[in-house]
Amino acid sequence: MHQDIARILLHETKIRERVRELANEIARHYPPGEAGLTIIPILSGSIIFLADLIRELPLKMKIALVHVTAYPGRTTSAQAPKTIHEPTGDIRGRHVLLVDDILDSGRTLRAVQEMIRRHNPASLRTAVLLRKPSKAPTDIVADFIGFDIEDLFVVGYGLDFDDHYRNFPHIGVLHPELMP
Ligand code: 5GP
Ligand code: MG
Repeated sequence: MHQDIARILLHETKIRERVRELANEIARHYPPGEAGLTIIPILSGSIIFLADLIRELPLKMKIALVHVTAYPGRTTSAQAPKTIHEPTGDIRGRHVLLVDDILDSGRTLRAVQEMIRRHNPASLRTAVLLRKPSKAPTDIVADFIGFDIEDLFVVGYGLDFDDHYRNFPHIGVLHPELMP
């Protein structure tokens, strides 16, 4: 796996530090006594970020899952999200924090935020580990952002190419000959 990576963009130690800072930022918006927090990771890309983030969040929370497929198989250019499943947990009247791996064209977050709003949460905020500012539309709000990165197709730390490399601990770029 490691030999397929041409360049590491973000080392795991840097990611860990930033995730801890993000958790502190997030915690300031949800006081410890606040009841009714539901974290909603957008699967599958956010699984590693989610696991690290929530263990840094000393808050009582429920987790509901939303599954979206945006880059099917070996595609590396943004497409409209293909499938969006309804969340697995209760949302009405709860404080929802959406968690996604990356804000690219914004189509995924736009669709998921709209879907969550239809369930009437008490509040809705969004945390993303990465954002490609050159592509993300300004009307899509991510309240908490880990890193802004260049417009590159990245893998690792949950992000895949053809469902591989999610377990690569850093965030990196594949050798160009491996991509279409
Ligand atoms: P958007 O809908 O904002 O264009 O794309 C968001 C989704 O596309 C992300 O949740 C992620 O699954 C996928 N995606 C966007 N950019 C990248 C990238 O650079 N690498 C990988 N592996 N997936 C990406
Ligand atoms: Mg995703």
